[in-house]
Amino acid sequence: MVRWMKVAVQTGAECEEAVTQILLSAGAQGVVLEGDGSRRAVVAYLPEHTQVSVDDLEQRVRDLERYGLEPGPARVSVEWVQDEDWAESWKRHYQPLAIGRRLLVKPAWVRAPYDGRIVIELDPGMAFGTGYHPTTALCLEALEELVQEGDTIVDVGTGSGILAIAAARLGAGSIVAVDIDPQAVQVARENCRRNGVHERVWVATGSTAAASALLAGKQARLVVANILADVISDMAEELYGLLQPGGLLVASGIIDDACPQVQESLVRASFAVREERARAEWRCLIAERTS
Ligand code: SAH
Repeated sequence: MVRWMKVAVQTGAECEEAVTQILLSAGAQGVVLEGDGSRRAVVAYLPEHTQVSVDDLEQRVRDLERYGLEPGPARVSVEWVQDEDWAESWKRHYQPLAIGRRLLVKPAWVRAPYDGRIVIELDPGMAFGTGYHPTTALCLEALEELVQEGDTIVDVGTGSGILAIAAARLGAGSIVAVDIDPQAVQVARENCRRNGVHERVWVATGSTAAASALLAGKQARLVVANILADVISDMAEELYGLLQPGGLLVASGIIDDACPQVQESLVRASFAVREERARAEWRCLIAERTS
């Protein structure tokens, strides 16, 4: 009987992605978010033999403060579960997920009836982006509304490739997807192929400069960036430069407290902020390049 170590990290909402990365680098194959509000935790199942120390994990979570993130309680708890429990929990949390009116995100290993929805099949591997995170869901819903047939789209911080694939499946003509994490780039490429959209999605390692190079003089009608408040603020001007006049930016990954600061940065970069959307403590801004 294989035993798994269930590691739960209670942390601030803003740190969920960073904690996810910490758990993945510790050997987790994926994470799930459990609970609500102050009881919210990022949970991973690690094989029994994995070398991790609770103290070390707690320290790494607390260290996130150095990057300007609020680590919250930074409490790590460990519980042992038997193989079948783990399998059950995996299944329970990775159910296919209907998003918006037309999309369905499902793990590659699950068969799902899809009642006419556009299916996005994913194996997120080591990359962020399963659709379960509110910031991703906000972006998918925005894409569903905004993507028009033949659009040129840029996805900055593509992670698993989920948003780029959704854009392609919603009719975009060409999509440029970039991520500073080479592992994410590899996962995104595999997922694009899995969904049969690899001929319309160009995935590259890098950030806005790499996206600009791939656009080769073209400008996008939509740019989506689901990263973090500070990162979006810092790259506001570059995001503006990727867009054609009249083009829209969907900026997500913004924790509520940081939203005014991101809005300011966007306005400073000449964007007109058109809309603010909310899910739990997360905000998604839609901003226009007007000229
Ligand atoms: N687009 C996916 C993943 C979002 S997670 C989704 O919506 O679910 C954010 C991703 O942004 C991570 O994969 C991270 O590696 C990447 N990232 C962080 N900073 C970045 C930067 N400056 N430029 C490009 N990508 C960045």
